[in-house]
Amino acid sequence: MKIYNTMTRRKEDFVPITPGEIKMYTCGQTVYNDIHIGNARFYVAFDAIRRYMEYKGYRVRFVQNFTDVDDKIIRRASEEKITPQEVAEKYIRHTLEDTDALSVTRATVNPLATEEMPEIIKMVQTLVDKGFAYAANGHVFFDTSKSAEYGKLSKKQIDELEAGARVEVNPDKRSPMDFVLWKPDKPGDPKWESPWGTGRPGWHIECSTMAKKYLGETIDIHGGGQDLMFPHHENEIAQSEAANGAEFARYWMHSGIITSGHKKMSKSVGNFSTLREVAEKFPYDVIRFFFLSGHYRMPIEYSEELLASAQSGLTRIKNARGALAFIMENTEKPALSDAEKALLSQAERFPAGFEAAMDDDFNTADAITAIFELVRFIHSNTDVNNPGGVSRAFAEALMAQTDKLCGILGFDLSGPQQTDAEVEALIAQRQAARKNKDWAAADRIRDELNARGIVLEDTAGGVRWSYKK
Ligand SMILES: [Zn+2]
Repeated sequence: MKIYNTMTRRKEDFVPITPGEIKMYTCGQTVYNDIHIGNARFYVAFDAIRRYMEYKGYRVRFVQNFTDVDDKIIRRASEEKITPQEVAEKYIRHTLEDTDALSVTRATVNPLATEEMPEIIKMVQTLVDKGFAYAANGHVFFDTSKSAEYGKLSKKQIDELEAGARVEVNPDKRSPMDFVLWKPDKPGDPKWESPWGTGRPGWHIECSTMAKKYLGETIDIHGGGQDLMFPHHENEIAQSEAANGAEFARYWMHSGIITSGHKKMSKSVGNFSTLREVAEKFPYDVIRFFFLSGHYRMPIEYSEELLASAQSGLTRIKNARGALAFIMENTEKPALSDAEKALLSQAERFPAGFEAAMDDDFNTADAITAIFELVRFIHSNTDVNNPGGVSRAFAEALMAQTDKLCGILGFDLSGPQQTDAEVEALIAQRQAARKNKDWAAADRIRDELNARGIVLEDTAGGVRWSYKK
């Protein structure tokens, strides 16, 4: 497996610290609103990466925090007239519902900032004791001048950083580049006791503390959205390496942004969509398919046309699988012919192409291309109008291949599909109506199915249904 390491700006062979194991940390949500589709893309991208690593036989320990205390949460609490804790609980629930719907595997651990205060305070204290941090007026700041390698991830020049940091200068800071580890509470804020007075931690220190607590001082992979590279990830590195005296993460991975109208999606530009809004128009598996149709590091443009084209792509795969299922039920031939054996050995090139793409920095776009090549192969070597033309074993082998490749990307085509049972029931009703020569009822059922995007085909072997293209 090759991974593009943002730290070195190169693709590198992946070598884990402990053979067979991957310790991976990714920065999760600050839970004050429903996730937008840029967040959703990040979750899906790292889920596909994790699933592929597990497919390759690695045991993946995947830690992802929830930032559950923050200015934005406090502001939202006063808007919604509930407590900050209630805001956090509500949006943690929403985020998990949303990511579950996208078939994102839950993290091994989802630590919460508010539940890790003793460890956070201990790490801040270590930084003060080692001379990397200083207290001033209830704040504790990280002293970036003590960190010789500060800027090594983002590769920004110190003067460039200083110019950017001057926008908001806290008079207690020794340098505009220093950042906050602990801050005093304002009246009504959530607060915790600390050696520097009551208050709460800065955002960056959370991730450093949780990565250490749940994964150790040096982790294999740290991931996050590209927009977190600076200052968040830079600050995590500075804190962790100063406190632990050890390299923080061996590989840094960043997922790309989503644009809309070719501009970064953001609330201020007004081109912002929550996942829930998009899910009113498109099924979750289509949204997931849309995200994975692009390489995880590349920006992707969001538009309904592109989602519709993802929908028809996923439909093509589902239809090919549906055709195989139909053939398996209707063919009389159980065993492979010699010609089919030869074809199946040719078909080995599809999983090989899929793995080559995924081994090359998780190129899901090319991996999906390999699945489409398999779909074309299925169509050119089977005929749903002549289910007896191939053996059950042949259809079964091609179906197993389709399911395996789709499964690695998190598409479960084999599981009971919710619509299937309903559709089958309606088809049975229509068949019964036709038998009774109740043509009006039969047509009505056909129209109803049609309205749900299902088309029927009366073939020699019986009725076959598929999703409209
Ligand atoms: Zn983080």
